[in-house]
Amino acid sequence: IRRNSSVVYPVSKGEYPPVKRLDPMHKKRILVTGGAGFVGSHLVDSLMLLGHDVICLDNFFTGSKTNVTHWIGHPHFELIRHDVVDPILLEVDQIYHLACPASPRHYQSNAVKTLKTSFFGTYNMLGLAKRTKARFLLASTSEIYGSPAVHPQPESYWGNVNPIGPRACYDEGKRVAEALSYSYARQDNVDIRVARIFNCFGPRMNWNDGRVVSNFILQALENKDLTVYGDGKATRCFQYVQDLVDGLIRLMDSDVTEPINLGNPEEYTINEFAEIILKMVGEGKETTAKVVHLPAVEDDPQRRKPDITKAKELLGWEPKVSMLEGLRGTVAYFRSTLDDEH
Ligand code: NAD
Ligand code: UDP
Repeated sequence: IRRNSSVVYPVSKGEYPPVKRLDPMHKKRILVTGGAGFVGSHLVDSLMLLGHDVICLDNFFTGSKTNVTHWIGHPHFELIRHDVVDPILLEVDQIYHLACPASPRHYQSNAVKTLKTSFFGTYNMLGLAKRTKARFLLASTSEIYGSPAVHPQPESYWGNVNPIGPRACYDEGKRVAEALSYSYARQDNVDIRVARIFNCFGPRMNWNDGRVVSNFILQALENKDLTVYGDGKATRCFQYVQDLVDGLIRLMDSDVTEPINLGNPEEYTINEFAEIILKMVGEGKETTAKVVHLPAVEDDPQRRKPDITKAKELLGWEPKVSMLEGLRGTVAYFRSTLDDEH
């Protein structure tokens, strides 16, 4: 199912990407909530290419129909506009539960709604999994570790989260989503998988979501200064979206019910990251853009790096696309999207 990291659908208008023919024994009906979002739409692509029937459910808060238009009309594909806060009746074999805004700008814009999405959304999807006996995978996050006192972060670390700060709606929302998942597993034998996802980037990222990758690429392409919040010494690790999607599918198809970190352990300070993007985007071009420092944001985790020993041992998974390789593809994608708009 690996695709060249430079292939982003649609490749040519009017043609469906080539889906595999699966025999009915292996073909599953798979629900992807948040399937029109950044990660969700790449996951939908991979599941469709594998030959499954895919139901993409989204309320289009941060996602967009254009992320999945290349599948509309395909006999294996269904798109449903629905908010996971409300229950829904469907018949499915697997549920990838991704519906939830992921960028601080979006999840903080309506904190109560983010909490409702995390709690009621996960509750509804677990209820659906219980009724249909579908396997359920939760897209959790490295944010459940908060501002970590342990580095790198193994799954056994319980985290250091401010429960009343501006990020709490997301961090605590995902923590309760994990607690709900394990409670349903213990109490009702729901078959669950939990992926703790670390920062991810790639084509189809929402470019007004205020996250560091999209901000810096856009700023550099528009010859504007790159805005580093605070001293820029905070670290992050960035994984390419196709690696993450492969990890999610491996986890879903495994017997592993404990939480699993999915991330790329290559660690950069935000200052280093800004310099890398400035250099990459500026190659062979006149540019006056430079790095500027703005006030630090509240509760910004200072260090973050996944310990992926478990993913390696239990899933045989590790990232294949280096940060630099993925970044080149993403810059090219943003550049062509900008060119299309002008
Ligand atoms: P995204 O914002 O692009 O996608 C989320 C999707 O969910 C969007 O299409 C949005 O419209 C939809 N959605 C939001 N609230 C909904 C609701 N109430 N009902 C139905 N649909 C709803 O974000 P993403 O980066 O693709 O993240 C996908 C998942 O992965 C999220 O659960 C996120 O928490 C998790 N995650 C992402 C990252 C990352 O770096 N991208 C890191 C950790 C965890
Ligand atoms: N960041 C920054 N400039 C920006 C956007 C983000 O310096 O224009 C910093 C932010 O303060 C944090 C890191 O980059 O230290 C990653 O931020 P992002 O919002 O992408 O993700 P998260 O904090 O959720 O990991």
